[in-house]
Amino acid sequence: MRLSELETGQKGMIVKVLGHGGFRRRIIEMGFIKGKTVEVILNAPLKDPVKYKIMGYEVSLRRQEAAMIEVVSEEEARTQNNEDTFLKPITQNTPVPEETMRRLARGKRRTINVALVGNPNCGKTSLFNVASGGHEHVGNYSGVTVDAKEGHFDFQGYHFRLVDLPGTYSLSAYSPEELYVRKHIIEETPDVIINVVDAGNLERNLYLTTQLIDMNVRMVIALNMYDALEHSGNKLNIHGLSELLGVPIVPTVSRTGRGVDNLFHVIIGLYEGADFMGQKKEIKNEVLREFREWHDQCVQGHKYEGPKEEDPFAHQSFIRHIHINHGPEIEASIDAVKKEICKNDNIRHEYSTRFLAIKLLENDKDIESRVVAPLPNGKDILAVRDKEAERLKRAVNEDSEQAITDAKYAFISGALKETYTETNTNTEAFTRVVDSIVTHRIWGFPIFFIFLYIMFEATFVLGAYPQAWIEWLVELIGTGVEHFMSPGPLKDLVIDGIIGGVGGVIVFLPNILLLYLFISFMEDSGYMARAAFIMDKIMHKMGLHGKSFIPLIMGFGCNVPAIMASRIIESRKARLVTMLINPLMSCSARLPIYLVLIGAFFPSKASLVLLSIYAIGILLAVLMARVFTRFIVKGDDSPFVMELPPYRMPTAKVVARHTWDKGKQYLKKMGGIIMIASIIIWFLGYYPNHEAYATTAEQQENSYIGRLGKAIEPAIEPLGFDWKMGIGILSGVGAKELVVSTLSVLYTNEDDVENINLSERIPITPLAAYGYMLFVLIYFPCIATIAAIRQESGSWKWAAFAALYTTALAWIVSFAVYQIGSLF
Ligand code: GDP
Ligand code: MG
Repeated sequence: MRLSELETGQKGMIVKVLGHGGFRRRIIEMGFIKGKTVEVILNAPLKDPVKYKIMGYEVSLRRQEAAMIEVVSEEEARTQNNEDTFLKPITQNTPVPEETMRRLARGKRRTINVALVGNPNCGKTSLFNVASGGHEHVGNYSGVTVDAKEGHFDFQGYHFRLVDLPGTYSLSAYSPEELYVRKHIIEETPDVIINVVDAGNLERNLYLTTQLIDMNVRMVIALNMYDALEHSGNKLNIHGLSELLGVPIVPTVSRTGRGVDNLFHVIIGLYEGADFMGQKKEIKNEVLREFREWHDQCVQGHKYEGPKEEDPFAHQSFIRHIHINHGPEIEASIDAVKKEICKNDNIRHEYSTRFLAIKLLENDKDIESRVVAPLPNGKDILAVRDKEAERLKRAVNEDSEQAITDAKYAFISGALKETYTETNTNTEAFTRVVDSIVTHRIWGFPIFFIFLYIMFEATFVLGAYPQAWIEWLVELIGTGVEHFMSPGPLKDLVIDGIIGGVGGVIVFLPNILLLYLFISFMEDSGYMARAAFIMDKIMHKMGLHGKSFIPLIMGFGCNVPAIMASRIIESRKARLVTMLINPLMSCSARLPIYLVLIGAFFPSKASLVLLSIYAIGILLAVLMARVFTRFIVKGDDSPFVMELPPYRMPTAKVVARHTWDKGKQYLKKMGGIIMIASIIIWFLGYYPNHEAYATTAEQQENSYIGRLGKAIEPAIEPLGFDWKMGIGILSGVGAKELVVSTLSVLYTNEDDVENINLSERIPITPLAAYGYMLFVLIYFPCIATIAAIRQESGSWKWAAFAALYTTALAWIVSFAVYQIGSLF
């Protein structure tokens, strides 16, 4: 009986909650746990929702949701009890004792519905036969099972209803078989699904698995044809694969029945335990104990035997619901469509909304017309889908359906790369050949570093040309304005504040675009994933993930998009730490400062000094990552798949698009934060009493910013900086590019000293200059970066933490350099 069938005033005990994982969790969190008594407070025939009382609380459920909860009603219990001649009859008006209800509920719960899902010819029917003792036709060709066959058997006191479904490669709506299997999963809501996987053909078989994961069903993988795998000499790390997929895997040989007992032990564990599996990965002991107690009490003449201890796979239970990561572009689209679907409460009990969103993006006609169109906001959902599909097409240059398939295969290929060693290979795909070189244990690294070298080299050498053109253009605009505006504060604001500030920074646009061109090429060709793959080990030593490497590299360009790129990291912990250390990757905005100071103080050892700054940043990042993962950021490091998409020659169009997308972010920063900061700094340096001083230097000293610089002087004096340098630091808070422009404003205005080398204009020692560069490298990442951390981490707390720790660290490092260096 279903909970929705109980009438007002009736009571029932919960047997089980059906449906997909997301729904089950929500319902269970509301208190609808097996063995709990529910009372109907108000169930009027046409009224929705229905009011219930459970565990002392009143909750309301939609009728459709209540229909997904199986219960034993008091009436049912009374009738059953009275049918048993050995038990004392319960009269119509006395309540049924809780013990009796519980016994019956447990008895009903004994039935487990299981469905077999897998590719054609992977051994489902053989498995069905050995388990149920059936004699269905088995044949080594596809399409033998056309409709569902049902078999029954008892195992360990449980009654299994096993359904053999037709074989399918996928769960799209292309063939009747696929539709049939999907319909069965949704409508019959099996308690557990056995995903039969042919161990000899993992890549293709796991594709279906990833779709089942999207559906968020409770499942176990039967790694069938295990005998063939053993025989082939190829090695699969079952444990590892299971962890990556978040699904238990049991090796089986369904032709002989090997491993099948273990398979059903795991199913029992899943079935009994999964409702109680919160963040913990394992089935809780108390659940097992309760189950054992019940078993020995209720199943006569049978003693519970757990799985055989010596079997290593019987006790594993990696259950965590993962999302197959389809990459940032597709995930953004999934989220957008899902958000629109979620406005509908009517559908969430039946389907995982993520699954619906993915199917819609795949243009699944069945879901579209049968499920989504009838919804009140069906039109809106489809409109969002169309918009997202369009956007995706532009972004990845592929239609969304193909892109999703590719991403799934990339996920599988990454998972297998980590867990599967093929010694006996006869496939010679291009990807495999290239991979054997670029992900080679030894050769992978030099190849990667050569690539990085070329990237940086090209960025600066090639970038120098357009840089000169932009400089020229900015100057042109400046003189133009000079001519047309009448003198006064407004003119000074436009020329010195806006054109000077923004112009000084916009010259770096070509370098940044070039850097992004390389990064986009790496991403789109598939090489970035390989680079992350070879760096995975090193990153793990830092407590990070191979994927952390990508945002870290991007950080050399600009920390803002780099922090956004850390979205690709699934593990929250690794993601957060990656964001926090990202500012230590010296972004291109800091480069002009180094160039100016190195040019002035270390002209003979320029590259060496520059390299040392970058290296110190990286070293500190490593150090901080270790500290943060150990002491500050909580959470466990669950393993995640590194997706390895197939290599592709990216089209010029796509690379150009991606480059431009990123460049746009930089330009936005120009028009927004840098412009505002330039104006503020100009204002602070211009007022008060602009006209009252004889020299500009004197005026600067007495302006607001001069006073501010003086105010912080005591704090930076131990680092060897003067107040003008302090002002540089303050202005860098807006954007690091502003440090240079501020310094040049402050130190050039000594009237006729324009031609003197900056090192003579800045009256500090090389040591202090070096400390200053380090300070600029480390301290407060610009406001835009802090805003990005806030946005991506979802809390101001981490943004504030990033701001504080970097500033403190900068002070300590510069202090140490200056004080220790001064001793020599
Ligand atoms: P279905 O299409 O998924 O129902 O697969 P079948 O059960 O019809 O099996 C297809 C073929 O694989 C048959 O020839 C089986 O004998 C064979 N087979 C099934 N399970 C195994 C196994 O574990 N190992 C080996 N070597 N062959 C198997
Ligand atoms: Mg079959």
